[in-house]
Amino acid sequence: MPEFLFQRVALIGIGLIGSSLARVMEREKIAAEIIVSTRSENTLKRAEELGLGSRYYLDAGDAVEGADLVIVCVPVGASEAVAKQIAPRLKKGAIVTDVGSVKKAVIAAMRPHIPQDVYFIAGHPIAGTEYSGPDSGFASLFDGRWCILTPEAGEDATALDKLVEFWKACGSTVEVMDAEHHDLVLAVVSHLPHIIAYNIVGTADDLETVTKSEVIKYSASGFRDFTRLAASDPIMWRDVCLNNKDAILEMLSRFSEDLSALQRAIRWSDGDALHQLFTRTRGIRRDLIDAGQETSEPNFGRQHENGEPAQ
Ligand code: NAP
Repeated sequence: MPEFLFQRVALIGIGLIGSSLARVMEREKIAAEIIVSTRSENTLKRAEELGLGSRYYLDAGDAVEGADLVIVCVPVGASEAVAKQIAPRLKKGAIVTDVGSVKKAVIAAMRPHIPQDVYFIAGHPIAGTEYSGPDSGFASLFDGRWCILTPEAGEDATALDKLVEFWKACGSTVEVMDAEHHDLVLAVVSHLPHIIAYNIVGTADDLETVTKSEVIKYSASGFRDFTRLAASDPIMWRDVCLNNKDAILEMLSRFSEDLSALQRAIRWSDGDALHQLFTRTRGIRRDLIDAGQETSEPNFGRQHENGEPAQ
């Protein structure tokens, strides 16, 4: 009999992240039992067809009974309702975590409902694609990616160690940081780029002098990479914007100032300023490839194991 890290893991939400976790847990034999819960009958049926768990529930409360680890994988805005639903059914000594892209708001929404005899440690795997639902997940999603855990001060060290071990077994490298700092960092590296992409793609769509077919035809010249980000799940990104308002607004105002400086350099034909900025940013791209967070292959090497484009 293999020794499992957890006996029973309950996944609340079985979309891209939940189903990827189910797949990697199966691949790595992390849990003896994987319990799946989602709110809609259609998604639950699909998860069952895909064989993502051993038991399936529409009621999240039913799913968490007896679970040693509960991972909430729903849009950030649904975290509080899920916490309320599962709280009375959680096993004493269980670990509850989440995967939401925003941390301070999720902790504020969930923590008050989690019983004192249950450990709660929020988390965020820095891994994803623009696809959603149980079919979009894949076992290698977390391989070589970071996972950030944001325990509150005084949280139990053994529970934290166990969660760190879990994410390592899923292929990730774990970093522990303060929730507020997480939200600021992610506002720069993830939230701002998505907002800019949504904006650019929206602007191109509104143009009257350049036709839609021209935008699509010549998209390989740069636009295409923005469309990938702008195709990300609208509910997830609505919730990210609504729940990380302060950090996002701060980054957007910094961005607007820098954009004005760039606009000025173009207006005044300041080639040196443009060249200097573009050289500096090219260096950042190189650092990123060196750090193994991207590839230098065409199309960013985006293929996952099903042969479909990922990330
Ligand atoms: P997803 O593929 O859209 O799946 C969402 C899951 O949550 C589905 O099971 C869905 O259930 C359920 N759900 C949706 N709205 C709900 C609600 N109001 N109440 C209860 N359940 C609800 O989403 P995902 O991409 O896996 O994202 C899940 C979480 O991971 C989000 O918090 C997101 O911020 C975070 N995250 C995402 C990425 C990414 O790239 N996608 C990366 C890192 C972290 P039904 O299908 O049954 O309606």
